[in-house]
Amino acid sequence: MKAHDGIYLDGAWRPALSGEVIDVVDPVDEQVIARVPAAGAEDVDAAVRAARAALPGWAATAPAERAARLSALRDALAARKDEIAETVTAELGAPLAFSQAVHAAVPIAVAGSYADLAARHAFEEKVGNSTVFHEPVGVVAAITPWNYPLHQVVAKVAPALAAGCTVVLKPAEDTPLVAQLFAEAVHDAGVPAGVFNLVTGLGPVAGQALAEHPGVDLVSFTGSTAVGRTIAATAGAAVKKVALELGGKSANVILPSADLAKAVNVGVANVMSNSGQTCSAWTRMLVHRDQYDEAVELARTAAAKYGDRIGPLVNAKQQARVRGYIEKGVAEGARLVAGGAEPPRERGYFVSPTVFADVTPEMTIAQEEIFGPVLSVLRYEDEEDALRIANGTVYGLAGAVWAGDEAEAVAFARRMDTGQVDINGGRFNPLAPFGGYKQSGVGRELGAHGLAEYLQTKSLQF
Ligand code: NAP
Ligand code: MG
Repeated sequence: MKAHDGIYLDGAWRPALSGEVIDVVDPVDEQVIARVPAAGAEDVDAAVRAARAALPGWAATAPAERAARLSALRDALAARKDEIAETVTAELGAPLAFSQAVHAAVPIAVAGSYADLAARHAFEEKVGNSTVFHEPVGVVAAITPWNYPLHQVVAKVAPALAAGCTVVLKPAEDTPLVAQLFAEAVHDAGVPAGVFNLVTGLGPVAGQALAEHPGVDLVSFTGSTAVGRTIAATAGAAVKKVALELGGKSANVILPSADLAKAVNVGVANVMSNSGQTCSAWTRMLVHRDQYDEAVELARTAAAKYGDRIGPLVNAKQQARVRGYIEKGVAEGARLVAGGAEPPRERGYFVSPTVFADVTPEMTIAQEEIFGPVLSVLRYEDEEDALRIANGTVYGLAGAVWAGDEAEAVAFARRMDTGQVDINGGRFNPLAPFGGYKQSGVGRELGAHGLAEYLQTKSLQF
């Protein structure tokens, strides 16, 4: 695949000073498909300086002009949607249809939403004898993972640009190619030099240098809880703003009055989608004891249908990690009803769609984020028991409730300690705030709430 051999710095592609490279691997056949720079601390420093220099000009542009650049960015992405899908398929391994419908389509919609929001947002308001200005936070460090590689970039960069911030992006080492394509789209959209900068590189090198850089005002991170904790501690010590989107272990609660077959089928599809590499996936299915056996049988049949249709995991490390969790589930006494730790193919980082029954709330597979196509089906006694189980992890990112009556589902959802709940299969809404309760994170992304993360207030009294 074609790739830039430089970093996008101050409006142009320039060689990285580090001289190091990253091999980009296709997870389906394990072949190297491209090489990109692995930037070092001096490259990160140059990018932050460029962002800092561009900040006063960009912060002072009229919101209508920022909206126009974001609208052009949306159009530039839309014009290249097939190329986006092919790129994500090549470096992440997602089936092409899924890359088109989700990995390409969702970020185009989100970029469009911020073109609208930048045009409509009240960056100035009256409060009594004060005028309150909503001003950009400053230079943003965006550090993103590989699982929704373009979506996670756009969900940070678009609101940051809408707010008047400038950005340095460090994308995941596994998926730098779609980030390069994004940088080209930003360039073609006429965003001024230095407003957006891309440094491809390794987390502990480029990522850490960026998160620690004194020229950064806000670090927005999506990824593992372990790295998120370190970033929050570093940012806290420097009194820097931080936004974290971490893991999840979301509950899919099927109340006795629900359409059981629909709830189970949609629930299995939710977990298997993107090979289970979704932070908001409903990886714990909670079923009333009287319907439990029927639900397990439905889940087994549904998982079997996926067979060969899901893509691989992103890399060998993730494949080994997920297989390790499946072995742990068996060792702790859960009953394997579909899939298993044995890889379904010799080549590629594949894991079979896997379903565990007889999972109890304290088991490792019911507590920790697996990030693979693995569903745990848990039994509950009554509604209070279901609520205790649903709320019984350190996470609180997403969830689902199914019931015959919408009001019944809503009443249950209101008691869940989680940032999002889909009622009877409610659709993804790119304008709804997305983010976690408890250890799933700090802050919200998407829509007006996502924009607010990149603004700070100044009050003038009259
Ligand atoms: P990760 O290491 O947290 O990666 C996320 C991003 O942070 C990547 O760009 C990564 O760079 C960077 N990074 C790594 N170490 C860093 C450091 N010390 N300082 C600054 N940045 C750093 O996550 P992962 O290893 O790819 O995945 C591990 C697990 O995290 C998964 O199994 C899953 O449970 C969870 N995860 C959650 C999400 C989510 O959406 N919430 C997304 C991905 C993973 P590199 O790419 O070079 O590592
Ligand atoms: Mg990592």
